[in-house]
Amino acid sequence: MTTVDVAVIGRGLVGSAAARHLAEAGVSTALIGPAEPADRTTSPGPFSSHGDEGRITRVTAHDRVWATLAARSITRYPDIARRSEVSFHVPRGLAVVTAELDEWIDNGLITGSNVRKVDAAWLRSSTGIEVTNGLGVAWEGSPAGYIQPRRLVEAQTKLAAAAGATVVSEAAASAKPIAGGYEVSGPWGSIRADRMLMATGAFGRHLLDAELRLTRAPRTVVMAEMADPGNIPSLILEQPPDARLRSIYWVPPVWYPDGRLCLKIGGTLATDPELASDEELVSWFHGNGDPTEIEALTATLRALLPDAAITSVSTAPCVITNTPTGHPYVGWLDDGLAVAIGGNGAAAKSSDEIGRLAASLFGADGWTDALSADTFTPQTV
Ligand SMILES: Cc1cc2nc3c(=O)[nH]c(=O)nc-3n(C[C@H](O)[C@H](O)[C@H](O)COP(=O)(O)OP(=O)(O)OC[C@H]3O[C@@H](n4cnc5c(N)ncnc54)[C@H](O)[C@@H]3O)c2cc1C
Repeated sequence: MTTVDVAVIGRGLVGSAAARHLAEAGVSTALIGPAEPADRTTSPGPFSSHGDEGRITRVTAHDRVWATLAARSITRYPDIARRSEVSFHVPRGLAVVTAELDEWIDNGLITGSNVRKVDAAWLRSSTGIEVTNGLGVAWEGSPAGYIQPRRLVEAQTKLAAAAGATVVSEAAASAKPIAGGYEVSGPWGSIRADRMLMATGAFGRHLLDAELRLTRAPRTVVMAEMADPGNIPSLILEQPPDARLRSIYWVPPVWYPDGRLCLKIGGTLATDPELASDEELVSWFHGNGDPTEIEALTATLRALLPDAAITSVSTAPCVITNTPTGHPYVGWLDDGLAVAIGGNGAAAKSSDEIGRLAASLFGADGWTDALSADTFTPQTV
């Protein structure tokens, strides 16, 4: 049986980043987690929150902690891309339309963003986006834009392996305490680890004895095919034209594996539903999203981009994992068992720093960061 110092379970954005930081710090590491299911509509899972071609990246945020996590991560993108030879970052700029403009701008400026206040007329003439809700508008230029999350996982996994990590591209069926450590097993075999980091996103509850305080919120995305990427930046917008939605975001047109160039729009329904059981979650991934959300997102897109020629529309289900603190959990849950879970729909861009903080738990000095460990303390039911 392979024996390592730390087994990281979950090869998503956070787990792969944590494994890279651990392995590059000289810790013997195993990174365990499956690739995306070949057929989402029949797979029993686990599924991930990163199985897509685009996630917004930006420093400016409604919250100083998130702005800090993003700023630190974004600085390291060029190094990760260069050393892994996997490009994943596309700087296209970001527009934010919000009732809390001052907070967004302050949090951005203090953490090194180039964000600035603009107005609806500037946005219309520079990007074609038509905003009529009267809210404040901010613009963050490059490096804001988007990242390609599948490629970032690939880059982090590649670098973790290059630094000596054992990579198991399969799910863990169990992770049990044994004398002096843990045994992680599946049909693929077993790995013995002194300590363990769980980074399993919305799935993997059955691997933990304790129950984390988390909600898993279903999200529907609409992919609108466009012939031309034009000048469209990333967008975050509150109070969209369709009142069934509380807010929306979109990622500018990006090539999907099926050969289509699509802008992806998603958002939060005013009703903000949750999925309670694992069965509900799996069955959500077998479908194509919520019809009401699809209708509201499509109507919103057409209102905000009146000049765009949309040639086809497809939809997909996804899930976000929310904590009651609004920040990810990064901390110890038990002796030798830490978690890095709870992206709150915002962790893709910041996953490298969340992974670095998680990896630091296993260092000789433990948590030494200027961001308080209390901000990230896991809460259990
Ligand atoms: C529709 C949508 C849009 C989003 N947009 C943005 C955005 O624009 N910008 C942004 O920054 N963030 C965005 N996010 C959030 C971001 O994608 C998540 O916060 C991020 O993916 C969380 O990373 P993670 O590693 O915690 O979880 P995941 O990426 O879900 O990774 C968890 C991994 O654990 C694996 N796993 C689960 N169970 C097991 C097991 N038993 N054994 C082994 N492995 C297991 C899963 O297969 C998965 O690969 C969005 C999320 C969604 C759903």
